[in-house]
Amino acid sequence: MKTKNIEIVVAPREPHYVGDGFRVHNFIPSGYRLDMERMDPFILMDYNSPFYFPPTDRPRGVSVHPHRGFETVTIAYQGKVAHHDSSGNSGVIGVGDVQWMTAASGILHKEYHEEQFSKEGGYFQMVQLWVNLPAKYKMSAPKYQGITNSQINKYLLEDGKGVVEVIAGNYENVTGAASTFSPVNMFNARLEEGGKAGFNFPATYNTALLVVAGEIKVNGTQTVAENHFVLFENEGEHFSVEASKKAIVLILSGEPLNEPIAAQGPFVMNTREEIAQAIRDYNLGKFGYLEE
Ligand code: MN
Repeated sequence: MKTKNIEIVVAPREPHYVGDGFRVHNFIPSGYRLDMERMDPFILMDYNSPFYFPPTDRPRGVSVHPHRGFETVTIAYQGKVAHHDSSGNSGVIGVGDVQWMTAASGILHKEYHEEQFSKEGGYFQMVQLWVNLPAKYKMSAPKYQGITNSQINKYLLEDGKGVVEVIAGNYENVTGAASTFSPVNMFNARLEEGGKAGFNFPATYNTALLVVAGEIKVNGTQTVAENHFVLFENEGEHFSVEASKKAIVLILSGEPLNEPIAAQGPFVMNTREEIAQAIRDYNLGKFGYLEE
């Protein structure tokens, strides 16, 4: 097996706000080397690095908005988010939990800090990903997977210095908690200082990682700091991650869909005509109803 090397390390960009509750660094799509196609099927990644939100009686967040054509995946590292959508699904995701929402043919949803967390204030840290859907599933029925940390299977590393939580896909014969529409691997590696994990993915899969906490060494040589993103080359299959400081690392690897992407705002389809249709359907109220 050939080593998979780093293509680029991306430092967190200046944060911006999504609504008033998510202070995020945008990693995908960003710049010419990380457009939606480059990390296909991961077409968007926003990262709320650790940030203190003071107490408030009015929860911060994002009000009702639509999505069509893909899935939103929210991973909570600190803080709590409450979610409601027009399919009638709702839930709270807390530390270590994952929410996997399939917008598919269309939903309206809203995402707010959970009420008690808002009242108390505290540190907030989340990743939100958009995972693209294959063309044949873009107009399928919406779906919701609220995955608590206890439902996520964990692989204990041989050296006892950490675990790999398998959110989706497969790691060392441990199967992911989430069902997906195309081959997607999504893991949280939680490593003690000195803990080391190896990863193998087909060379053609688009592969990246985010250092959510701590500091790591990739392939025994390159140090990557907290809040930095690593894009791997599409050559070689194997890479290793070693925690030079106690670390949490989000690992992403997926088979590219290799289908045309037409994206506008909250809609991601294959053609401009499908985007125009999405806007028409939204304006006609075909995405259902959700109270503000
Ligand atoms: Mn949304």
